[in-house]
This record gives sequence, structure tokens and C-alpha cells, in this order.
Amino acid sequence: MITVLKFGGTSVGSAEAILRTAKIIENVEGGKVAVVSAMSGVTNHLIQFLETDNAHADDAIALLAKKHMDVANELLTGKLLNGFAADFETRMDALKNLLNDRYVRNDPFFNDNISSQGERFSTLLLSYVLRSMGHESVALTSEEAGLYATGNPGFGTADLAKTSAGLMMNVKPLVLANTIPIITGFYGRNENDKPLTFGRGGSDYSAAVVANGLDADCLEIWTDVDGFMSADPRIVPEAIKIDEMNFSEAAELAYLGAKVLHPRTIEPVRMKHIPLKVKNSFKPDNSGTLIHHLRAPKNEMLRSVAMKSDLSIITVSSSEIAYRPIMVARIIEKIADAGVIVYAISTSLSTVALLIHTLDVKETLKHLNLLDPADIERIDVKSNMALICAVGDNLLARCGASAEIFGAVYEAGANVELISEGASDVSLNFVVPMEKALSVVRTLHKKFVGE
Ligand code: ASP
Ligand code: MG
Repeated sequence: MITVLKFGGTSVGSAEAILRTAKIIENVEGGKVAVVSAMSGVTNHLIQFLETDNAHADDAIALLAKKHMDVANELLTGKLLNGFAADFETRMDALKNLLNDRYVRNDPFFNDNISSQGERFSTLLLSYVLRSMGHESVALTSEEAGLYATGNPGFGTADLAKTSAGLMMNVKPLVLANTIPIITGFYGRNENDKPLTFGRGGSDYSAAVVANGLDADCLEIWTDVDGFMSADPRIVPEAIKIDEMNFSEAAELAYLGAKVLHPRTIEPVRMKHIPLKVKNSFKPDNSGTLIHHLRAPKNEMLRSVAMKSDLSIITVSSSEIAYRPIMVARIIEKIADAGVIVYAISTSLSTVALLIHTLDVKETLKHLNLLDPADIERIDVKSNMALICAVGDNLLARCGASAEIFGAVYEAGANVELISEGASDVSLNFVVPMEKALSVVRTLHKKFVGE
């Protein structure tokens, strides 16, 4: 039995939090592996440092060193404290050298390298604390563990096959020998042995990749909230925690709004049917949310309502679309060239409407404008849109579900600008103007969530 546990920045953000985290790890039965984020604030600090001129490099480094050494001084003594201090200094020196090396600055992966340094420190700290509690533990960087990634700087994707081979070689034997590996989250090593990050909050994804690679029996994501909620409690104060979800429901919610998990966390565990638990490390006895393949059906119409704001609808009009199916492919191809995420898409005989983030509009238009003007009649942009994601049990099969949901949207006084139904059988996604989004979420929650 192998459990992969992931701890976020707040779960390793102070001496007290690290101790709590170490105890959670200690209490897990069987083989265990932890994947850890940087101490809270550290990644931001490193990124800020990259964004400003580097005049204060020494100050920035001193601050990082103090943050980690303070915790070490509080939790470790004697030989272990000395051991930690020596290992920590080696890693700090590597960071200093990196910052002083003019040549590496031109490397496209320089920012990934710097922003992922915090994980190398936090893993070391947690591993030493586990040792001080009498456990065998080793801190491994993604390079040492064999977590491989591919893609552009800041947008890595794990190479699952290569990673699995790497983890089976470097990590599994440790687990079998009763040692607890603590692995850096957030990044993998690319084809050229450069650190490549998975996007902000990417340690959740790292942990799912490790669970996949090791064929783990369970993935536990320990965070600072109780689990997935039926709505954002800041919008709907009476929102309730969801005890159980299936992978599709969790994936929809993670992509569209709920900020509980990095959106890519579901895929690597879904592939291997590895159950995922989201738990609060500040309240370890709480049950959290269990996400797995099958869950008991419930009677409620909706499980959760999420929203994503700051979106725009781009509508491409062309009478050619009806006669030349290739037109749709060409439009999509341009969007892909722009490297933009499409949240929903809807087509008619003469239009293709795409929902994208407002920040991506400029880049998208730049690429769409490369289409042959003879083929395109118009391109319109409608901004200030929000996507509402209503997740429910078997929504597609439930006769009248859409009528009831849109009836409630009408009651909230919102005009529906675009609908995406049928692509997923667990969610009904639609777009409303941003100024109506909060009241739509509240109305849907009130009418349809709960037993
Ligand atoms: N430390 C990284 C970040 O803050 C990765 C993570 O937290 O998952 O984005
Ligand atoms: Mg973090």
C-alpha cells in the first residue's frame, strides 16, 4: 500500500505547520511519499525578485535563509540541526551561483529554475523534521526523483511514462525500505535537464503525477480548506462541503472556478483509478472530499455551482462555415497557435463562438486576423462575461433539468449569452454577463443544491 501525500505552502509555512504536517505523514499506514510546495510566500518572493532589478539579491537571499533557518532552529537540535544547516547551505549556494551567473540568465528556463528553488528548501526542512521524530526520510529534488517534464517555460506537462520509470527506480526502493521520500513539487526536469514548472499551484499536479508513476493506492492533497464546496463561500455563505465526487465532477470544478486543486491534478490519477482525498491540514480529523471513480448517486439536482469571471466571447462569422467544414478547423487551429485556453465553444451554420479569458483576446485576434479575409465576414468580441458551471448528478439524462436551471437564471434576471451542454454529462455550463453572475450562482445554489 502506497499513499502519496501533498502539502501546500501553508502546510509547511511555519514551525507549527511543519510539525503538524510531519505528524499527519507519521500517522499514515504503509508506504508513503510526500510532495511538497515551497513555504508560503517563498515562490512569490522569488518571482518578485525576478521581476525587479537584482540590486537586492543579497537581501532577498538573506531573507529566505532566515525564514528556513528560524524554523530549523525551532524544530531541530544537535547533529540534525548541523546536518540541515550544511545541506541547506549547499542548496543556497547553488541559488546564489545561479543568480550571479550572467550566462544562465539568457536561458529561457532561468525563471523556472529560480521560481522552483523554494521547493528545494521546504522538502529538506520537512525531511529533517521527520528524521528528528525517528523516521528514515530523504529529501529528493524532482531531478533526483526522476520527475520528467516537457513543454514551454512555465507551462510544463509531465512525461508520465518516463516519470514512472524514473520513480520506480529512484523512489519505490526507498519506500520499500521504509524510508519516507519528500519530493519537490511544482516542477520536473525537461529533456535538457532544466527545471520546468507546471504553472502556479502546480505541486498538486506534481503529486498526482507521482501517484500515477508509483501506481499509488491513494493520493491525499492536504491544503488549508475543508475540501470542495458546493459554491465559493465568499459568494454563498451557506455553501456546504461536498463529501464525495467522481473524477469528472471534480475536473469540471477544478477547471472552472473552484480554486481547491490545480486544474490538471485529476487526469493523472483518473487514468489509473487512484482515489484522491482533499483534506485540511489544519483540521486533520475532518473527512474532507473524496474523489473517486464511482460514487453513490444522490438525489440532489446540483452538487455545486462555480463561476469563472473576466471572460470574453469571440464570435467569428462566415457563411462559408456551412459549406466548408474545414473552416471550423482553421479557426480552431488559429486559436491553438495563439496558445489560448478555450472554456466553451458553440457553432452555428455561419458562426463559431469561443469563450476565452479576456487577457487572451488580443493574442487571439492577432492570430484570427491571419485567416483569409475572403473567408471571414466579421469577428466580434463581447467582454465582461462570466461562465457559470453547474455540476450535478447525471444532468444530461435528467429530463427538464435545463428548463429548471434556465428558469432560475431568468429569475435572477440574467441573459444567457452562450450555452455548452452535452459535452460533459455532469455539468451544464453557460455564460452570463459578469454583473449578473453572483446572483445567478446564489439563485442556483439556493434552489437546487442539497438534499
Ligand atoms: N510553490 C508553487 C506556487 O506557489 C507551487 C505550489 O504551490 O503548488 O505556485
Ligand atoms: Mg505554493
